[in-house]
Amino acid sequence: MGSESAFDRFTRTVDSAAAIVGLKDAALLERIKTPERIHEVSVPVTRDDGTNLILSGYRVQHSSARGPYKGGIRYHPNVNLDEVKALAAWMSIKTAVVDIPLGGGKGGITVDPKSMSKTELEALTRSYTERIWRVIGPQVDIPAPDVNTNAQMMDWIAHEYGRQSRTISPAVVTGKSIANGGSAGRDTATAQGGFEVLHAALEATGESIRDSRVAIQGFGNAGANAAILLSAAGARIVAASDSTAALVSPEGLPVSELVAYKNKGGSFADMDGHDKRPTEDPLFVDADILVPAALEGQITAANADQVKARWVLELANGPTTPEADAMLERRRITVLPDILANAGGVVVSYYEWLQNLHAEKWLREEVEARLAVTMRRAYERVSELATFRRASFRLAAYGIAIERIATALRSEALEGRIVLGR
Ligand code: NAD
Repeated sequence: MGSESAFDRFTRTVDSAAAIVGLKDAALLERIKTPERIHEVSVPVTRDDGTNLILSGYRVQHSSARGPYKGGIRYHPNVNLDEVKALAAWMSIKTAVVDIPLGGGKGGITVDPKSMSKTELEALTRSYTERIWRVIGPQVDIPAPDVNTNAQMMDWIAHEYGRQSRTISPAVVTGKSIANGGSAGRDTATAQGGFEVLHAALEATGESIRDSRVAIQGFGNAGANAAILLSAAGARIVAASDSTAALVSPEGLPVSELVAYKNKGGSFADMDGHDKRPTEDPLFVDADILVPAALEGQITAANADQVKARWVLELANGPTTPEADAMLERRRITVLPDILANAGGVVVSYYEWLQNLHAEKWLREEVEARLAVTMRRAYERVSELATFRRASFRLAAYGIAIERIATALRSEALEGRIVLGR
């Protein structure tokens, strides 16, 4: 099992979920699991000093059964095809769990963006877009930000796509800046979605966010915004980490100070006035709620017995391995799974896409109110199935998703399949 890849873990989870919803059609299951298209591209970039680099880039289009492919683009030195395949597949599941009419895809470039200047990042983003523009589009595949990509990069993609296709197409990508057609509320959407799910789950057991102790691994878009929302609701953030160090305080960390420090580009390892601990420490501190909000594969069979929290809110994608999942379940630690807990980002991306297609601008309050309803509804449906089948939230969420994808695939007319080329 040690060498099992993230994509293998995805297919194994789909098989377990199929049993819960009684999906026995092996050929259909294989279609649900297998990516529809994989694009592997070379990304040439000229550095500021005039030297040339060729980077590896990917776009995996996993499923269009329920709508255009949708999913972020990641810049990270560890990006590889298997990881992008897994991330794309999770997007297909996620859009189905929250029942928005989109499929799943993901992209990435194997690069350390911290070693690049802003002009180099622009050059590589435009170069990648030039390579993939023919296979994306507002009705085909709509990228978005992921780890180490942001609104500025999405603006570059929209602009470059427009240049290549000779169109003005803000709907080709989401997570843009507000000035370039981004949606109010997109920046906080993932955290707000997770907050709604956590709130509903705690409410169902008579607990509350107020006075709870929260540990957060990863203090970027998802983690820092979760810290802001949770502390505003009365929780204490007892640990937080970035990729350089963890800060721990049983009395509660000063969230706004940390956010201001990170917004200025600081690293926790250099922050004065706090004890520094290893980056994985938030996973193991004494807390009620653990929020993994960094990268995948953090809670594993080797460390799951050290988790002290009773709730795990997965804002990161794939932070818990299946073995660790089983260990947490045996210890009665409830995992609110990524495909539900962090779906707020793609839900508001969907709202951004709708606004662009209809030339509308929604207010932040409208976006937040709609997101709250969508997330609550998704939680209720997952929770019902989990209770009914005595299954984990993760398997229940996968079960609901694969049933919805299966229904879409089954109801396709043969002519439709030929015309669409699926
Ligand atoms: P980000 O780049 O804004 O932040 C990532 C954070 O994790 C940074 O603070 C980084 O320093 C930290 N980090 C990296 N490695 C770490 C380690 N080993 N230990 C501790 N901290 C570490 O990225 P993000 O957008 O917040 O995404 C974080 C996770 O959430 C990813 O798994 C991403 O796929 C997932 N996610 C994000 C969104 C979104 O809308 N931003 C939506 C869904 C899922």
